[in-house]
Amino acid sequence: MRNFAPELARSVLDAAPDAMVIIDAAGVIQLTNRQVSALFGYAHDDIVGQSIEQLIPERFRAGHVGHREQYVGNVRVRPMGAGLELFGRRRDGTEFPVEISLSPIEDMGRMLVAAAIRDVTDRKRVEAQLIVARQAAEAARELADRANEGKSRFLATASHDLRQPLQTIELLNGTLRRRVTDRHAIEALAQQELAIGAMSRLLNALLDISKLESGAIRPEPTDFTVAAIFEELRMEFASIAANKGLRLEVETCQDAVYSDPSLVEQILRNLVSNAVKYTREGWVRLRCLHEAALVRIEVLDTGVGIPEDHLPYIYDEFYQVAVPNNCSRDGYGLGLSIVQRLVKLLTLKLDVRSEVGKGSAFSLVLPASSGQVAPVHHEAANSPCCITQPIGEARVLLVEDNPAVRSATSLLLELEGYHVTAVASLAETLQHVRNGNGVDLLISDYHLNDGETGTQVIAALRDILGMSLRAVLTTGDTTSAIKQLPRDPYLRITSKPINAEELLTLLRALLAA
Ligand code: ADP
Repeated sequence: MRNFAPELARSVLDAAPDAMVIIDAAGVIQLTNRQVSALFGYAHDDIVGQSIEQLIPERFRAGHVGHREQYVGNVRVRPMGAGLELFGRRRDGTEFPVEISLSPIEDMGRMLVAAAIRDVTDRKRVEAQLIVARQAAEAARELADRANEGKSRFLATASHDLRQPLQTIELLNGTLRRRVTDRHAIEALAQQELAIGAMSRLLNALLDISKLESGAIRPEPTDFTVAAIFEELRMEFASIAANKGLRLEVETCQDAVYSDPSLVEQILRNLVSNAVKYTREGWVRLRCLHEAALVRIEVLDTGVGIPEDHLPYIYDEFYQVAVPNNCSRDGYGLGLSIVQRLVKLLTLKLDVRSEVGKGSAFSLVLPASSGQVAPVHHEAANSPCCITQPIGEARVLLVEDNPAVRSATSLLLELEGYHVTAVASLAETLQHVRNGNGVDLLISDYHLNDGETGTQVIAALRDILGMSLRAVLTTGDTTSAIKQLPRDPYLRITSKPINAEELLTLLRALLAA
């Protein structure tokens, strides 16, 4: 400062954007700039000569003296009170938040300290607003999470508690159909059966949509062969297509892809189901085409086709194109909206081409697998089959915690000639076997009481009776149950509610496997 004219030094100080206060080692104010007067309300001459603590709220003054003396003992440029909230005090006693940086100055052998003081009222206000906004966003997210949890709870309840009575009615219907001989009663039961089927299809579709919407379905992508899925679909739809007089043509596909296999299978199942449903004569074909790093899976049919002006809407919920009277219609317009949600979830691509009267082609484009994929073995295990008695007399162990489903299933199976033992838990299952009872076939519900699962029951019983023990897992929660289970030739997984006839066919096939 010595080399400048005092007026110039003064002008420089006044031009600074911050309030500048220069104090000596004892904390006495030596010089201030114009901003100090504007900020603190003191005229220059009123404040010079006063202690710096004059500009600090009274409650901080004692502490400040200590800090100041410490600083004088170890001078360097630094912000003041790092991490602390600092406040200035105006002449009228009002306070405001400040930010201060300190620099030592030497003046003719005397140590002075320059403090640049910035009023941060506006910044603090913005920060406070941000905190409030963040808290509001967090509260909104918590509310949304709670709503989502509520929805998941509803879904769990709906899927379990609604499926159980539906399963009971379905099995009782099957039992009654075997008992009644009256023509009208048979007709009434047949109608009831149709209504139950429609109800369970609608329940399944609604639950699929809700699960997809609530984010409860998380894709687990992996490398897998398209052929494995084609084979599953061929087994599932061959007889349905044949019953309609249609040819189901499943071409050989050598390609492997990278995605979530069970969700891709769900997409293709919906597409094949539609193709069969909307085709009166001709064929439904499944094929795959390799295109660079992509694999295109096509579901083609020679069905009724979709008019061009309807194509943009077919993925909307409950949207159905008017279908000719002589064509079966047993959907709700939800299948393709599930397909579209799954396609989006898996970030795949789905195209459709269609011509009225000629047919439709839905094609799903997936990334080709880059790694090696283990071949899927469908052949039966080598262990010898344990079934010696006729199928109808086989010993069935039924593990079901719901009393109504348990007794309806027992009733149906006993009527069919099976020897049924029904229990409700893993402990009862083990007790039954330890008592020396044989089991030819195990049917277990997936979700049992006290957190036990059907997979535990199957594993425990196979530990004792061998891996070739035939087992059926019934579940209302297909995704989690199926994903945990390695496929084996003696295990079948069915989704509740299962139709009585389907259950009996499945048991016969499994016992003969
Ligand atoms: P739905 O339960 O009615 O089958 P979807 O959502 O699966 O519902 O399909 C919506 C509509 O798209 C169907 O009602 C049908 O009119 C039409 N559609 C879907 N797939 C085909 C197809 N392969 N051939 C002809 N029409 C189809």
